[in-house]
Amino acid sequence: MLKLDYLEFYISHTCNFNCRGCNRFNNYLFLGHQRWQEHEETHKKWAERLQLDEWCIIGGEPTLNPDIIKWIYGLHELWPNSKCSIVTNASFKKRFNKEFYNSLIDTGMRMDIGLHDQNRRVDVTKTIMDFVKHPVIVHEPPKDLNKVEGLQNSWRNNYNKIKDPSWPSCESIYDWDKLPTYIKEECANMHDFSREIYESRFSPVNLTDANGLEICIALENYFYDPALIRQEEKNNFTLHNSNPKRAHDICMSKYCHHMSDGKLSKCGQVDLFPKFSKQFEVELNQEDKTLVNSYQALTVDTDLEEAEKFINTIKEPIAQCKFCPENYAPKEINSTINKDKFGIRI
Ligand code: SF4
Ligand code: SF4
Repeated sequence: MLKLDYLEFYISHTCNFNCRGCNRFNNYLFLGHQRWQEHEETHKKWAERLQLDEWCIIGGEPTLNPDIIKWIYGLHELWPNSKCSIVTNASFKKRFNKEFYNSLIDTGMRMDIGLHDQNRRVDVTKTIMDFVKHPVIVHEPPKDLNKVEGLQNSWRNNYNKIKDPSWPSCESIYDWDKLPTYIKEECANMHDFSREIYESRFSPVNLTDANGLEICIALENYFYDPALIRQEEKNNFTLHNSNPKRAHDICMSKYCHHMSDGKLSKCGQVDLFPKFSKQFEVELNQEDKTLVNSYQALTVDTDLEEAEKFINTIKEPIAQCKFCPENYAPKEINSTINKDKFGIRI
């Protein structure tokens, strides 16, 4: 049996938001849903050979997929004992109905909501309060930020990326107050980096409703540079030309393994480079085009020895990592529902 700690089932290119920096390029008019029936048989075969600790349904915006209820019940039937969740921007209000609610309760699925705009908090909270069964327990964010998973690592990495060699180190969010004012001002004004910004990013609201449905509402309005580079003067895209190891080292998606069209990829980006290039003009030299198209996702009928080799090396860098950025600082975005129409569609 093959084993994976975490897998994202990517079920839609389509999204109604335009988050600049979306790592799966769904801020553009990237179109298409995966229908459950088309992939049901392949997923049944996967469930016979792949054990998952945790899985997640994502897009694009997965609630826009007409088959979302079938995906929720279908995947849960195949991997009933794994932790499961769905990631949504919670904007397609028509979906937040009894049928959707029941599917989450029946499958024990957690919902992770990204607001992507701080002005949406009130509206989304109202949608959720109308959706859940009361009484609701709202869990206080931890007072001790040392207990927030991933925060100190993220803090240290991002501070070190923007740090001038003359600045003192700042290993933890708690060292922020010891920094001189001129450094704090430069961090906040030039790099959108400060203790307050981190506290708001890492203090999501977690709640549990009367039936045990768990929902997390997070701001998520800081995005890193995506792999796609906009060439404004040509109205088309290109990709980075990075050192693959360095790009992989700083990559936030390297452990977000991805299932799409019944095939398993190391990450969403490597699966989507060729798919996006089929819908939009992406300017690359011949060598890079070949590299984009050469990634071999794992198929369900691959023989066991090959499949084990794939899974055993899935956490390592790949040649296509060169297409992702090797330097970045997070940028604040406030997403809207007006799609970004940039790019020449093919
Ligand atoms: S909501 Fe934003 S981050 Fe999420 S898929 Fe849509 S564009 Fe991407
Ligand atoms: S190709 Fe490499 S660097 Fe790019 S998202 Fe995937 S794992 Fe990360």
